[in-house]
Amino acid sequence: MGRSEELFERAKQVIPGGVNSPVRAFGSVGMTPRFIEKGFGSYIWDSEGNKYIDFIGSWGPMILGHQNPDVMEEVRKAIFDGLSFGAATEREVDMAELICEIVPSIEMVRMVNSGTEAVMSAIRAARGFTGRDKIVKFAGCYHGHSDALLVQAGSGLMTQGIPGSAGVPEGCTKDTLSAVYNDLDSVKALFEANPGEIACVIVEPVGANMGVVLPKEGFLEGLRKLCTENGAVLIFDEVITGFRLALDGAQGFYGITPDLTTFGKIIGGGMPVGAYGGRKDIMSCVAPLGPVYQAGTLSGNPVAMAAGIAQLKVLKDTPDIYKNLNEKGDRFFAELDKILTEAEVPHCLNHVGSLGCIFFTDKEVVDYESAQTSDTARFTEYFRHMLGQGIYIAPSQFEAMFLSTAHTEEDLAKTLDAVRGFVR
Ligand SMILES: *Cc1c(COP(=O)(O)O)cnc(C)c1O
Repeated sequence: MGRSEELFERAKQVIPGGVNSPVRAFGSVGMTPRFIEKGFGSYIWDSEGNKYIDFIGSWGPMILGHQNPDVMEEVRKAIFDGLSFGAATEREVDMAELICEIVPSIEMVRMVNSGTEAVMSAIRAARGFTGRDKIVKFAGCYHGHSDALLVQAGSGLMTQGIPGSAGVPEGCTKDTLSAVYNDLDSVKALFEANPGEIACVIVEPVGANMGVVLPKEGFLEGLRKLCTENGAVLIFDEVITGFRLALDGAQGFYGITPDLTTFGKIIGGGMPVGAYGGRKDIMSCVAPLGPVYQAGTLSGNPVAMAAGIAQLKVLKDTPDIYKNLNEKGDRFFAELDKILTEAEVPHCLNHVGSLGCIFFTDKEVVDYESAQTSDTARFTEYFRHMLGQGIYIAPSQFEAMFLSTAHTEEDLAKTLDAVRGFVR
């Protein structure tokens, strides 16, 4: 038995399923998870000492690769001042100013500890601001694991084939309305059926938790218009897309201004950080300024802020960093597509910038339903082959592949060779 198998046996005795988040289990590909010992640049090493090219990047945060020197240095400096005070600190102001500067739609922002918390709080603010209860989400979009949002929620739920979660009372989801991604008419119909009752529409501006699903031309604009006409708050969940597609996220990339935005992942540089923010009139509803209560003992933690600020500054101050990363993604995914096409493997490759995903289907994947046409058995074979070649991708069909600035041309060439080996 290898060391990862040994650790997994121990883990299963004391942690449900042996993992602290379901997406880490290799259950859907019938394997035991690798236990990771360290990471550097585009590589990670498991506890057997195997080296992998890492295309998960902690599910997005490691956009600069592992152990970016600026991020590591700022964290090192921060820990020597103490780990937490539960009081206001200068770094929180620096972070808030930085976010407001680089994302124009954000006038005020509140730091939290995860993407889940950011979304849950943004929804509460939208409800408090509008005085309405109902919310609209899209099938296949994941917005964290809070009760109201575990409805056709994508990500780990999709792999397990469960529409929702046990333990969520009906009362918690009765105000959650589900629409079809890329289908404006489905949203229009909900507004018509619930006049004056919908507080907000929340959307992943690029769907990245049912595999990668791009917004069709006009979809995000249409949502903007519908929300404005109906007095509903438009929330972009940019937990994945924020600071990834562009410095100002998908909203900058596609040129659509939401009312509220949620962040996570990249914003913490690898530390547990989330944030929600947007229009001043809406954010002014949040306590202690307003009546919407939201709090956090470790929110704005100084070490977490140090990591996040350092990462955002590298992203902001490095010339052409997004241009280069997105072009690298364009080249890589085009080549991947070509290999599969030439080998006549039925597939749909969806990609934008450094995010991409192969669906093993002959259908065009535009929403939750079409994503589910993918041949997951074929994906399992693909995953196992790639892992065996030292390529670490998400152990699920319904997740994204994340490129970082640390991936070298050599890494990508090696990865493409592994794909050639798979289709041969
Ligand atoms: C990961 C994710 C979340 C939840 O963030 P956590 O930090 O895991 O709680 C919310 N929304 C989207 C779009 C995500 O990808």
